[in-house]
Amino acid sequence: MARYTGPSCRLCRRAGEKLFLKGERCHTAKCAIEKRRRAPGANAQVNRRRLSDYGIQLKEKRKARVMYGVLERQFRRYYEVARKNPQATGLMLMQLLERRLDNVVFRLDFAESRNQGRQMVMHGHFFVNGRKVDVPSYNVKEGDVISWKPSSRDNEYVKAMVQNMPRKPVPAWLTLDAANLQGTVARYPGAQELDANIESRLIVEFYSK
Ligand code: SF4
Repeated sequence: MARYTGPSCRLCRRAGEKLFLKGERCHTAKCAIEKRRRAPGANAQVNRRRLSDYGIQLKEKRKARVMYGVLERQFRRYYEVARKNPQATGLMLMQLLERRLDNVVFRLDFAESRNQGRQMVMHGHFFVNGRKVDVPSYNVKEGDVISWKPSSRDNEYVKAMVQNMPRKPVPAWLTLDAANLQGTVARYPGAQELDANIESRLIVEFYSK
């Protein structure tokens, strides 16, 4: 399956909720979902179609896939790795998604969205433990240090970003050294630190059938 390249907001409209795919814009009145909520007669537009259990599980899996920008085959692979781990499968699955380098770059506030983080990683702007890594799906480990490539630090985007940091809170499982433009994976995220917007239990149920 090819990567989706259409408008991000369409994916939110299809999901019927905010998936926060566009960074800053998602938190403003310009958000397409917010506009729809404010539209005249919006309260009357209630979707009366009831989803089956399968439909609910499928929707949750699709939401997680879209939010983290992962294709179906890769997402299934994450599930298989999580399933073989003795820990809770849902927690492991979410940890694998959170440990992706493009997500970590986003969580460290080096990018406004995961999509932007993905682009930046692919353009080779980041080092992991001092070595360039340009693979967005790269899974970081405890103790890994993620830093900007020295030559990228002169970039206008980076200069502006440093002045406005922190734009959003950095999760406790990561430590940010804003002065040196680097972050460290202190540990893996716990169940309470995962995206509350995703019910991993439903995804596990979907694949367990
Ligand atoms: Fe989704 Fe963000 Fe577009 Fe709103 S602005 S619809 S949250 S991508």
